[in-house]
Amino acid sequence: MTEFQILKNMQPAPELVREAIKEKPGFGEHFTDHLSHIRFTRAQGWHAHTVRPYGPIILDPAAAVLHYAQEIFEGLKAYRHADGSIWTFRPQLNAARLARSAERIALPQLSEEDFLASLSELVAVDAAWASAPKNDLDEVSLYLRPFMIASERFLGVRSSHEVDYYVIASPAGPYFPGGIKPVSIWLSRTLKRASAGGTGFAKCGGNYAASLAAGDEAAANGCQQVLFTDAAEGKYLEELGGMNLMLVTSDNTLITPELGDSILDGVTRRSVLELAPQLGLRVEERKIEVAEWRERHAAGEIVEAFACGTAAVVTPIGKLVSDDFTIDHGEEPGEITMSLRKTLLDIQYGRAEDTNGWLYKLADG
Ligand SMILES: *Cc1c(COP(=O)(O)O)cnc(C)c1O
Repeated sequence: MTEFQILKNMQPAPELVREAIKEKPGFGEHFTDHLSHIRFTRAQGWHAHTVRPYGPIILDPAAAVLHYAQEIFEGLKAYRHADGSIWTFRPQLNAARLARSAERIALPQLSEEDFLASLSELVAVDAAWASAPKNDLDEVSLYLRPFMIASERFLGVRSSHEVDYYVIASPAGPYFPGGIKPVSIWLSRTLKRASAGGTGFAKCGGNYAASLAAGDEAAANGCQQVLFTDAAEGKYLEELGGMNLMLVTSDNTLITPELGDSILDGVTRRSVLELAPQLGLRVEERKIEVAEWRERHAAGEIVEAFACGTAAVVTPIGKLVSDDFTIDHGEEPGEITMSLRKTLLDIQYGRAEDTNGWLYKLADG
């Protein structure tokens, strides 16, 4: 394995400050004392593996990423277990997805070995930032954000010959500090996130840039999230801006849009689909029309809906709002939604046996 050079931060956050942040971390607002960094050039490949003090990145104003958005990222969480050890969840899937994203955005591939080491080296140095949950309802974690940018100083349009990969870490509290409450989602009719042949399956900043105006539209309509439909016909359900979509029927079937090049292959999505049969649910991955949700909800056949992704785990959907109709699933989270949520969290926090071998140890703690 390539050794990471560790350059210690000589001015880390004082313990009192760190502990105060950990008490009320929010989401994505505070960062630990270090970051991981690996540099790529055409001549040398990936090299200069380091963990060094967290701080601003110096980029040339002509760096390709600032102009042509040649950027990809990942998102996963580190969980501290009761014995103090720190784990993450199925990081091999994130490594593989980063490689698929890299291929689509014409960035170089980082090996799984380097990806895993970039996480564990950082978490080992910044372990003091990982809180243990106070009880079974507490959802504290250390959110890990790997990302890769085209840093070559060049305004010509081609893939960059110089690239930098980083991992930053952010203490995270529960996504719903006031308890789990179903969210309202806005059905975006005119603004699309991804199309056939596009970059929807890649985890890239450009997809998020394309979804932000629809997010503002959602907010203006009293919704917290956006649901995107297929770009060609606007007829089929795809996913939210950063979460996959699932529907539950009254005869215990979990239905989700099938993957394609406009839908992101979420680790949470996959895990929920794999856990579902253990909870007695059948699983269907297929095309789903918006009309099917409306009609089968009205007929009492689609009884729960939820979104899933690493940041918010499993999030019940209370309402789907459009300009001419609303599907109302009520104010209370669905039973199956909540049991899938709990099953997943119990594995991640080490409270249930990890029979699938999904956990990966980052540090002894
Ligand atoms: C990251 C992401 C998800 C969720 O993926 P997880 O691996 O479960 O976190 C879903 N949709 C989009 C568009 C995403 O970027």
